[in-house]
Amino acid sequence: MSVLVTGGAGYIGSHTVHALVEAGENVVVIDNLSTGFSQFLPESAPLFIGDAADENLVEGVISAHGVESIIHFAGSVVVPESMRDPLAYYRNNTMTTRSLLNVAVKCGINRFIFSSTAAVYGNPEQVPVPESAPTRPLSPYGSSKLMTEIMLHDVASAHGMNHVVLRYFNVAGADPQARMGLATAGATHLLKIAVEAATGQRAKIDVFGTDYPTPDGSCIRDFIHVSDLAQAHRSALSYLRGGSPSVTLNCGYGRGYSVLETIEAVRRVCGRNFAVQYAPRRPGDIMTMIADTSRIRGVLDWTPRYDDLETIARHALQWEEKLFHERQADQQHAVSA
Ligand code: UDP
Repeated sequence: MSVLVTGGAGYIGSHTVHALVEAGENVVVIDNLSTGFSQFLPESAPLFIGDAADENLVEGVISAHGVESIIHFAGSVVVPESMRDPLAYYRNNTMTTRSLLNVAVKCGINRFIFSSTAAVYGNPEQVPVPESAPTRPLSPYGSSKLMTEIMLHDVASAHGMNHVVLRYFNVAGADPQARMGLATAGATHLLKIAVEAATGQRAKIDVFGTDYPTPDGSCIRDFIHVSDLAQAHRSALSYLRGGSPSVTLNCGYGRGYSVLETIEAVRRVCGRNFAVQYAPRRPGDIMTMIADTSRIRGVLDWTPRYDDLETIARHALQWEEKLFHERQADQQHAVSA
C-alpha cells in the first residue's frame, strides 16, 4: 500500500514526501517538474514525470503501486500571475483536481488530502480567522482553490471520500538539513526576497506599505515553517486512517509578525545589514492574516517544532546560501568549460 503525492517534487510537496518516508510510508510521486526538482526527492520515492490531470497516468500509478491515499499539491500558486492569467489557474488547479478526483473515485480511493490556502478567506472580518469565516477570495488563485474545496465536498458526499482540506497561511523556511527549500525562480514571497537580499543577490528589499493601521504600519502575517506543515500532512493522513470525518483546517501558528519584524529577524540571523526601502502598498494585499489554530491543534496529533520566526529565517537563509553557492559554482564551471 502506498501514498500518492502529486506535486511531490515542489517546495511543500518534497518536505511532505520526506516526512512520510521518514515515518515509514511507501510514497509514489507524480510531478510534471514545471516548478519542482527531482533531486528534492528521496531515492525510495519513485517519481513519475507527468501531469496530475493525466487520468491514464494516474490510474496506472494507483494500480501499480497499490495507492490507498492521495495528497494533492500539484498546481499553480502565484497570486499576481493568477490575476494576469485566470484561466491557467482554473485549468491547473480546479480542472486538474477534477480529473484527479475522477480517477480517485473510479479506483475507490477514499482518503484525500488537499492543499488549500488562506487566500480563500479574502479580507477577513475577524482575526485570527477561524475556518468558519466567510470565504470571499480576492484572486483567481484563491477562487480556483475554493472551487476545488467545494468539488471535494460534493465528491465526498456522493462517494464517501474522506478528506482533509489544509488551508495554508504563510509557508516559509526550508528543510533544517538544507536538502530542499524554495528554489522557484522569480519568487515573490517576503522571506525569500529577504534572504536573497541578505545573500547579496538583491540590492534591497521593498516594504510594501508602512501606513497600515498596525503597530509599525506594515502588514502582519502568520508564518508556518514548511517542515511543520509537512508534519501536519502526515498527521492528517493518520487522522483519516483512524476513520475520522472530513475536516478543513487552518495551518499556521496563530501568531502574527509584521513585515518589518520579519525583515529584522532575517537581519539578526544573517548578521549583515541590507537595504530596506519603504514602498507604496502592493495592490490586493490583506493587512493582517493570522490563523485561528484551535481546530488543527484539537483535531490532529501535531506539535510544531519550529514555531519561532528566527528559526524559520535561519533555515531559509541556510538554504538560500546553499542555492547561491551552487549557482556560483555552476557559473564558474560554465565559464571555464
Ligand atoms: N512583502 C513586502 N516586500 C516584498 C515581498 C512581500 O513588503 O518584497 C509584503 C507583502 O506586501 C505582504 C507580506 O510581505 O504584506 C507577505 O507577502 P507574501 O507575498 O510573502 O505573501 P502573501 O501574504 O501575499 O501571500
